[in-house]
Amino acid sequence: MPDPSTPDVLDFQNVCKTYAGQPRPALNDLTLRVPRGSRMGVIGRSGAGKSTLVRLLSGLDTPDAGRLLVRGEPLGPATRAAHQARTGLVFQQFNLLAQRTVLRNVTLPLELRGVPRARRDALAREHLDLVGLGEYAGRYPAQLSGGQKQRVGIARALVTAPDLLLADEATSALDPETSAGILSLLLDLQRERDLTLMIVTHQLEVVRAVTTHVAVLDGGQLVETGETATVLRA
Ligand code: ADP
Repeated sequence: MPDPSTPDVLDFQNVCKTYAGQPRPALNDLTLRVPRGSRMGVIGRSGAGKSTLVRLLSGLDTPDAGRLLVRGEPLGPATRAAHQARTGLVFQQFNLLAQRTVLRNVTLPLELRGVPRARRDALAREHLDLVGLGEYAGRYPAQLSGGQKQRVGIARALVTAPDLLLADEATSALDPETSAGILSLLLDLQRERDLTLMIVTHQLEVVRAVTTHVAVLDGGQLVETGETATVLRA
């Protein structure tokens, strides 16, 4: 359950973003809070503004107006690196490095942080076990199925012990059965590790299966938000 004494993990305050040369904002006055420990689904059809929201969260872009607080602090040049260090990202196309083994894909974020080799290998193996791929450490991404690649992506996202996991269309490239396995894994990991989970998707069934809260975007605007059970019943 969200703890009311801790700040929201994400707090979008009247966030606006218009791309150069575009007549309409990609995000228009977005106000949305994501409590610690919640599982927030952000849903909307193509063009709704989902990718723009992910870009702002990843620090790849900045709002033109409004502000975005992360764990109670405004996201900006001084806080971006700390935010990124505590945020795990899972992508639709997995983004694994083809020339690296599964183990070396998972150790990569630890290498970038200067973690010593023995420690990073131990952590990566522990996380491959966690996603059910302990036996696959020496394989290469091309030798894995889509669902296995995404499990590696999840192990890589969690190996740095983030408290926020952002899944951007994480199951959109997978068949329904594989998707269900990945969603159930995300749900288990969220509970075990007390993560805040944000799932960005165009698939209603993903929101239904996993989330506690949902935000519905359309044309850059938040058209509805609330507890998933309530919003989906309406
Ligand atoms: P979604 O991810 O929900 O499909 P996006 O955030 O990609 O939505 O797009 C929201 C709006 O912003 C759309 O009208 C899209 O055309 C526009 N847009 C997105 N990225 C860019 C960009 N790099 N340059 C110009 N317009 C963009």
